[in-house]
Amino acid sequence: MKRNSLKGLIAIERIAIIGMGISGTATLTAYWKLQQAGQLPDVSIDYYDSLENMGCGPSFNKDSEHALLNTRTNEIGFDYENQEDFQRWVEENYHSQAAYVPRQWFGEYLQERLKSMTEQLKAKSIAAHVESLCYLPERKQWRVQVTSAEPVYYDRVHLCTGDLPKMDFYELKDTPGYVHDPYPLRELPQEITSQTSVVIIGTSLSALDVLKYLQEVRELSLIHIFSRRNQFPIINPTPQAITFKYLTEATFQSYLTDYHGHLTYDQLLTWIRQECQRFAIDFDETIQDVLESGTGPLRASLQQRDFYGYLEAIAMELTRILNHHWHTLSIQDQDRFLDTYDQALSLIKAGIPDSSAQAIIQGEDDGQLLILPDVTDLRYDETSEIYQIIQDGGKVLAEVDWVINATGLDLHMRDLDAKDLLAQALNQAYIERHHAGGLTMHVPNKHIISPRFGDLENLHPHGMLTHGALYHINSVYSIQRYAHELVQALYVNA
Ligand SMILES: Cc1cc2nc3c(=O)[nH]c(=O)nc-3n(C[C@H](O)[C@H](O)[C@H](O)COP(=O)(O)OP(=O)(O)OC[C@H]3O[C@@H](n4cnc5c(N)ncnc54)[C@H](O)[C@@H]3O)c2cc1C
Repeated sequence: MKRNSLKGLIAIERIAIIGMGISGTATLTAYWKLQQAGQLPDVSIDYYDSLENMGCGPSFNKDSEHALLNTRTNEIGFDYENQEDFQRWVEENYHSQAAYVPRQWFGEYLQERLKSMTEQLKAKSIAAHVESLCYLPERKQWRVQVTSAEPVYYDRVHLCTGDLPKMDFYELKDTPGYVHDPYPLRELPQEITSQTSVVIIGTSLSALDVLKYLQEVRELSLIHIFSRRNQFPIINPTPQAITFKYLTEATFQSYLTDYHGHLTYDQLLTWIRQECQRFAIDFDETIQDVLESGTGPLRASLQQRDFYGYLEAIAMELTRILNHHWHTLSIQDQDRFLDTYDQALSLIKAGIPDSSAQAIIQGEDDGQLLILPDVTDLRYDETSEIYQIIQDGGKVLAEVDWVINATGLDLHMRDLDAKDLLAQALNQAYIERHHAGGLTMHVPNKHIISPRFGDLENLHPHGMLTHGALYHINSVYSIQRYAHELVQALYVNA
């Protein structure tokens, strides 16, 4: 709340949420949770996004039913503390008890919940992209501008614009058969048919979405795929409920109290290995197995569902703890951990549904899926109008008509469009890139640190924008928990 200097009255705090994908919806949910608990002071909330993405963002928008959630139906919801809600909704609306359902169902569900929370909070939905953001230091307010409307002034802004640009490793953006962003899958060019040849760049979850869609809907007889290391996620294992002994908040808190808030890589690894030993898991050996290139680890995981269930539970708990304590490691220790373990932990946590695993394994066994080794370049030949996939030494491994880019987001934001809100905010030095990706921020208070204004206590980064400063705030669960902790700290624990 803020004192209005003109009238001497207490004014209602005005809040803007910019971007209403998972992060924006999670932020509104956090305010709603406070309201439900009778802890929300008088605030007024406006939120902004395009009509199309409102409440679901691009990842959970309308698309092919072949694009499945990779989180089980009973482990995801609009509120991380009420995860049965989505399963109930699926049963009521789609009469399904499937463990993994289409991503667009989750988007539809989120939009329904958003509508009802909006009414209860008396929030205002503004279907527009924010064009510009201007900080007024004397008023400590933000001026938000959308096209063809008067600017609006806010006391607090939640920056939830996580749809960062995709990477274009081979600089193919202006060539005719290149698809830079595969979503929505159903809008992939209709010319991609069973008669055409395709390469997918990437072997992560997005790439597997594309693969499954091309196999099942476009019925391609041959698909090429590659990534830098050709590593595939493992199967979604049998969930295991574990009582943790070493990876607990209490252990970390007590250590940090004793060691003046400094955690070390060696201590972290000791706890991880000790926790793994309790379940007969050799942590380092398993990490090496998971990191093998090709489909070997995925195939092996199908035979070891309980084993990987324990490992998944440990990886999840570790992530939840590191969400809070990442910044207590030195930069050198963070880098060491990322270099050695991060990729493997991501592959373990990204466990894929059986149907996706079968699509890969069957495809490879039938010769329909070709995993290309040691690719060093991908070029467009203007004369033949064909893409050539090149191996070390210049050998042409394959030639294809279409290239579908399914690599990750450019978390370092190197290639932002000048009109992008983040590009403008960077240009104004309101925000700054973190060396490890995302934005620089004050971690304990979850606000932006600006090169121009220092601590901007009323500008909060969310989701992918926290990458680098924080550890893995990128799943629905962690994004929601982060938003809830932030809003609680602002209004309840202040
Ligand atoms: C293909 C895919 C599948 C996934 N599956 C799962 C899963 O099964 N389980 C899980 O836990 N996680 C999953 N994730 C991860 C997780 O859901 C994402 O990390 C999350 O969606 C990121 O949310 P976000 O709100 O930060 O960004 P986004 O969802 O990208 O939303 C950003 C929003 O900001 C809006 N925006 C941008 N600029 C402006 C502006 N100037 N004004 C107004 N609005 C603006 C955009 O329109 C967009 O809607 C998946 C991610 C992807 C990509």
